[in-house]
Amino acid sequence: MAEPIPFVKLADPVHGRVDQLSPLVRRVIAANPGPFTYTGTGTYVIGRGQVAVIDPGPLDDAHLSALFAAVEGETVSHILITHTHMDHSPAAAPLKAITGARTYGYGPHERASDGTALVEEGGDMAFVPDVVVRDGDRITGESWAFEAVHTPGHTANHLCFALSKELALFTGDHVMGWSTTVISPPDGDMQAYLDSLEKLLNRDDAIYYPTHGAPVVDPKPLIRALIAHRHEREEQIISALGDSALDLMSLVPIVYAAVDKRLHPAAARSMLAHMIRLQQTGRIVCEDGRYRTS
Ligand SMILES: [Zn+2]
Repeated sequence: MAEPIPFVKLADPVHGRVDQLSPLVRRVIAANPGPFTYTGTGTYVIGRGQVAVIDPGPLDDAHLSALFAAVEGETVSHILITHTHMDHSPAAAPLKAITGARTYGYGPHERASDGTALVEEGGDMAFVPDVVVRDGDRITGESWAFEAVHTPGHTANHLCFALSKELALFTGDHVMGWSTTVISPPDGDMQAYLDSLEKLLNRDDAIYYPTHGAPVVDPKPLIRALIAHRHEREEQIISALGDSALDLMSLVPIVYAAVDKRLHPAAARSMLAHMIRLQQTGRIVCEDGRYRTS
């Protein structure tokens, strides 16, 4: 067994309250708690006076009102989107309409050509960024500057945003302290996700602010544990297969026996992502929907 993942809990979450987390970072949590969103979407406000908003969240009037109250008397000049899921980007539209801020993101949501089932809260197909952001791009305001870090895996268009002044990284759903990340093909890609975790290991960010849950201080042990966890899952899949040929839905309850059953449909998506990677690495083959070791 690999070391347990050092999860962190968010103590005392209050929807709509403004939490000052550091000199430059404030957070307002939306009232959309759930099995994929934990205590709700954490929308970050960066700076004072002229501010950037990261992941404005779902379309929810109470959350938007709380956000406007948080920035009263200030100017929202930038709206940064980590990725296009329904709990992250939809409120960018009303926030932009009212403030005139420009939106920044990697690009629109990838459309699944095969109409694959949606997990989490699904893709926000409406979002199109005003400014297309690529890896290494800088986004600057009066009192802050971000560097974009492209981290595909959870979605192809996932970005993290580094606030160098505070050695902070806004990690969206790529790295969260409360849970592992859902990787749902075809937009989700396990190899890309593992590569994007390695990419963060090579950086020196001191604190992560995920969109869901508490900040993560000392993030590298968490990343190493997340990588080890995925490798361990693949070994579990290999041993669950043994000498037999099994389909995905027979494997899920074996490999994810310890996981809440409500999450099994999402777990099946992550397992599919593992199956694709295990085929790419030559460890298994798939015949007529059944997998066996090669
Ligand atoms: Zn997401």
